[in-house]
Amino acid sequence: MNSQEFRQGLLESRLLYDGGAPGLYHRSDCFEDVVRSVEDYVSLAGHDENTPKLFFSPVVPVTTLKGSGYVDSFPNLLGTVNSFSGDDASLATLRQRLADDDEWLELFSPTEVGLCSAACHPLYPLLVGSPLPATGLTFEVQASCFRHEPSSEPARMQSFRQHEFVFVGTADAALSHRDHWLGRAQRLLSDLGLPIDSVEANDPFFGRSGRLLAAGQVEKKLKFEAVTPLSGASPNAIASANYHEDHFGTAYDLRLPDRSVAHSACFGFGLERISLALFFHHGFEVDSWPAEVKERLTLRHSPTSRIST
Ligand SMILES: [Zn+2]
Repeated sequence: MNSQEFRQGLLESRLLYDGGAPGLYHRSDCFEDVVRSVEDYVSLAGHDENTPKLFFSPVVPVTTLKGSGYVDSFPNLLGTVNSFSGDDASLATLRQRLADDDEWLELFSPTEVGLCSAACHPLYPLLVGSPLPATGLTFEVQASCFRHEPSSEPARMQSFRQHEFVFVGTADAALSHRDHWLGRAQRLLSDLGLPIDSVEANDPFFGRSGRLLAAGQVEKKLKFEAVTPLSGASPNAIASANYHEDHFGTAYDLRLPDRSVAHSACFGFGLERISLALFFHHGFEVDSWPAEVKERLTLRHSPTSRIST
């Protein structure tokens, strides 16, 4: 099944509804049920860490987009929010353009907010000014994220949720957090009947200077992805393990008790991507999924008991 056949199957099965722009989808009750089951499944796996859990707003201040370095490195992927702040005269112009079916968006101007770029980005500003313990801090976070990557490939949505386990502390502890979660996630995802590979990866930094950043990221082995075949020409990442070095620690002046700058790492599960992978590998009918997969997920459409991992 190629990506267009997969997309067609998702739409015809009424699991997803075309959202009206490439890469935008509305979700059915059944699809959402799978997404939330996957969320519970990965959350339960991290439960032993007894971490604070935060659900971030899908809209964040533009200072968060800048502070994370996202504006600098991925300007082509981010989304800012515009609104109308004109006077009565420009309102009349706006209404006329709407009536004439003419271009109206240029009458809108930037606001102080934009769309969340990655689930862990709103966390770091919250840590400013609060002392970090020497053992570091772990957080479980989730956000709806936006990437302007219009595509007809169902795995490349413009709006999707990331569920992350984030660590801020020493370099060694950040690396072991990332590697621990990479191993754990491979087992968790394999237990859902998905063929999983772990590969070195890089982020799609923009421009010529971005290619150097991407090469450095690979050379230093900062990023790994858990990938699975998902109708595209090559396997898609459904989870990623990232060691940020002191990038966020420096950006927000996050320091350990010895005054050294904190390092950080995050492990992110792509909730929609994992759900899509389940439909791709097990079929559009949840009821006919393998019993052991249904046993591990709590699906309202096929009531099963949960098995903790
Ligand atoms: Zn992250």
